[in-house]
Amino acid sequence: MTRPSDGGRIEVICGCMYSGKTEELIRRMRQVRIARQSYRIFTPRMDTRYAEGQVASHSGSRLEAITVATMREILTYAQDVQVVAIDELHLFDDDPAEMVRGCQWLANRGARVIVAGLDLNYRAEPFPAMMHLLALAEQVDKLYAICVKCGAYATRSQRLIDGKPAPADAPTIVVGGLDMYEARCRACYEPAV
Ligand code: ADP
Ligand code: ZN
Repeated sequence: MTRPSDGGRIEVICGCMYSGKTEELIRRMRQVRIARQSYRIFTPRMDTRYAEGQVASHSGSRLEAITVATMREILTYAQDVQVVAIDELHLFDDDPAEMVRGCQWLANRGARVIVAGLDLNYRAEPFPAMMHLLALAEQVDKLYAICVKCGAYATRSQRLIDGKPAPADAPTIVVGGLDMYEARCRACYEPAV
């Protein structure tokens, strides 16, 4: 098909929970729709917070999406599409290297690939697939939430169990909302031990 110079690119929208990543993804995809470009939006099967077949932000905006589990599935649906959006990339239960390879392949074929996801897990360590895509991307936007403790810009997702920081040996992926995760700044973040 086309070469990267014909428009293929990777855009990464990252940040902590509640930083507006999904909102920003939806905003960009509404513009894609206005531009009458062909597109597909993918959301991971792991994300059980909302109805299948939708991306939804915490503030309530929604757009139709295809719920999938692997990059292989994305690639079968995304053939010959101009814009490919993947929400919550860190939540895919697939080899991180496969996720990165798939995004690269799509962009090399000329697609605009827009990826949204957490840059850091609840232990404040980078998610491998996101870490690589941040380096490879043409455009990176790091968004901030508001720290629930002090009101500063938040960059960390604090996972809580009964109001206390979750231990370091807890599973990396646990899907949850405001009851389980708080946005916090570097100073207010309590490291998992
Ligand atoms: P993300 O995809 O990054 O988790 P969303 O786009 O789903 O974020 O939701 C962002 C929305 O979350 C904000 O517009 C706001 O309404 C809400 N929100 C809830 N808690 C916070 C917070 N601590 N800081 C900022 N926004 C918050
Ligand atoms: Zn703070």
